[in-house]
Amino acid sequence: SPGLYIVATPIGNLSDITLRAIEVLQGVGAVACEDTRVTGKLLHHLGIKKRMIRYDDHAGEGDRERLLSLMEAEPVALVSDAGTPLISDPGYRLVRTARERGIAVTSLPGPNAAIVGMTLSGLANDRFLFAGFLPNKVKARESVLQELSCVPATLIFYETAPRLEASLQAIAATLPGREVAVARELTKKFEECRTGSPEEIIAHYAAHPPKGEIVLMVAPPTDEPLGDVDVDALLLAELA
Ligand code: SAM
Repeated sequence: SPGLYIVATPIGNLSDITLRAIEVLQGVGAVACEDTRVTGKLLHHLGIKKRMIRYDDHAGEGDRERLLSLMEAEPVALVSDAGTPLISDPGYRLVRTARERGIAVTSLPGPNAAIVGMTLSGLANDRFLFAGFLPNKVKARESVLQELSCVPATLIFYETAPRLEASLQAIAATLPGREVAVARELTKKFEECRTGSPEEIIAHYAAHPPKGEIVLMVAPPTDEPLGDVDVDALLLAELA
C-alpha cells in the first residue's frame, strides 16, 4: 500500500539485508536514494530492477514535494548509501512532512554502524549517546566535547580516517582519562575494534595509518564521583 518505507541496507557485508527489506524493495513503486550508482549496485545484487529517485543532502523543497505526492499514490522506499536512513543521512524532513500529511510511514530495522560498533566495543552499553560527526573546526569540536563531557553515557561518534587523529587528540585534551574505542570497517573483511587510552590509540594509528570507515566511542565518566569516594574513605577511617 502507498506510503513511505524506511529501509536499512548493509554497511559493508551485502548479506546483511533482511528478508523484509528485500520484500519491500521488490514491492515498492520507486526507491528514493542518495546515490543511484550505490543503490543500483545493491538492487542489482538482489536481482531487483526498480525506478530510482535521487534524494540526497542537496535535495530541496521541490524534490521533497515530488516524492511526497508519489508516496500518496504508491509505496516508496527510502534508502541511504549504507545503513539506516536518517542516521547522519538524509530523510528527516521527508519523514516529518510525510507524518504531518498523514502519509503512512514505516521503518524496517537493519544495519547501523553506531550500534554495531558499540555492541562490539565492550564499553558500557546501558546508556549511550549518539552524537554523529564531530565538527571539523577546532573550536567547535572542543565545545561539543566540552558539552558532552558530563553526560553519564558512552559517547558514539561517526568518524573518517583522515580526521581520526585530530579527534583523538581533542578527546585526550577535553575528556582526559577516558577509555576510547575505535571500530573500523565493520562487517567487512578488515573489521577491527581497538580499545585503550586516546594516547595508546593515537600511537597505534600513527604506526598503522587507518583506512576506511570508523566509529569512535568514548567510555562514560567514572560512575563514582570523587566526592562519594571521599565520603566512603572517611567512613572507613571512622570505623577503623
Ligand atoms: N546511516 C549510516 C548508519 O546507519 O550507520 C551512517 C551514514 S554516515 C554518512 C557514514 C559514517 O558511518 C562513516 O563515516 C562511519 O563513521 C560510519 N560507518 C558506516 N559504515 C561503517 C562501517 N562499515 N564501519 C565503520 N563505520 C561505518
